Amino acid sequence: MHRPEPTLRLRIDRDALAANWRALDAMSGAAKAGAAVKANCYGLGVDACVPVLRDAGCTVFFVAHWSEVEAVARHVPSDQIAVLHGPLRGEDVDFAKPSGAVPVINSLEQARRWVSGGGQRCHLMVDTGINRLGVSPNDLGDPAVAALDIDVLMSHLANADEDSPMNARQLDRFRECLPLVAHRSASLANSAGIALGEEYAFDLTRPGLALYGGVPRSELAEKIGQVAHIEAAVLQTRQLSAGDAVGYNGEYVAQGPMRTGTVSLGYADGFLRARGPGNSLSVGDHALPLLGKVSMDMVIVDLSNAPEVREGDWLQVPMHLPDAARQSSVSQYELLTVLGSRLRL
Ligand SMILES: *Cc1c(COP(=O)(O)O)cnc(C)c1O
Repeated sequence: MHRPEPTLRLRIDRDALAANWRALDAMSGAAKAGAAVKANCYGLGVDACVPVLRDAGCTVFFVAHWSEVEAVARHVPSDQIAVLHGPLRGEDVDFAKPSGAVPVINSLEQARRWVSGGGQRCHLMVDTGINRLGVSPNDLGDPAVAALDIDVLMSHLANADEDSPMNARQLDRFRECLPLVAHRSASLANSAGIALGEEYAFDLTRPGLALYGGVPRSELAEKIGQVAHIEAAVLQTRQLSAGDAVGYNGEYVAQGPMRTGTVSLGYADGFLRARGPGNSLSVGDHALPLLGKVSMDMVIVDLSNAPEVREGDWLQVPMHLPDAARQSSVSQYELLTVLGSRLRL
């Protein structure tokens, strides 16, 4: 049976995605850009995004969980997939070896588990100050580290999106680690780190957010284009009179006669409460202010600026990430990663 057209749609601008990767690769100087594709490419979909990144020239793909390997491996060789959380249990090692994906080793325990399980090539995360995952620099002389076959030695910046003295401190600490461990290449910068300058790039950079249109630092604003475009259909239009209340708890009350539209967009689609009142959808150049609360699967907009809008028409959901984040105080990471599965049907 033919599935009817949805009332909510996500369009991935594949040209913008490829251009973003190329821009970040170019900003990485002599280093090559990889791609963080964890969390289903930050909500935009592995099947839509990974082939584009591969065809643009990317050859290293980072996921967080072992459960994410299979979907990415449909599009790229599995030895190009790195698993950031590493092997937490013996069964992760058992899975890793036949899968061909490469763990990022984050602790001496993980190092021992990987080697004793017969693991070979791996990456090593060293902690230079984020205190999240990674082997302490003081432990790099441990025999468990010496036993590893390390491809990429990496660390992760905690404050790259700010002008913090922490950035230079982490850079120095990372440089001090390099002679202590045998490795084939080195990697420090995420999206924001790439904008800190080429000395942060080493051999491989690891952009995520900026690939998908995020702008964590102003230096990237001119180079990064919007990738995700979301449109939602008007399910119904209504004529209100003065005193009529809108949506759950009637938080908006019409001051006079007005026309509203009820739109197919809600929490399950990733449209959070903080994106409600004070924000707008749009049609063409017209802003359509949101009225009252998000009502589960629907929002209600003021159609005063757009008398031509009818049931079934498509409205644009703001997804220019830096602007939408400023407007709603939802972070750019959240705006993407909470996108619901109905958008990718
Ligand atoms: C998620 C992640 C990245 C990508 O970070 P962005 O800020 O999204 O560019 C890079 N490296 C590691 C270790 C990560 O966990």
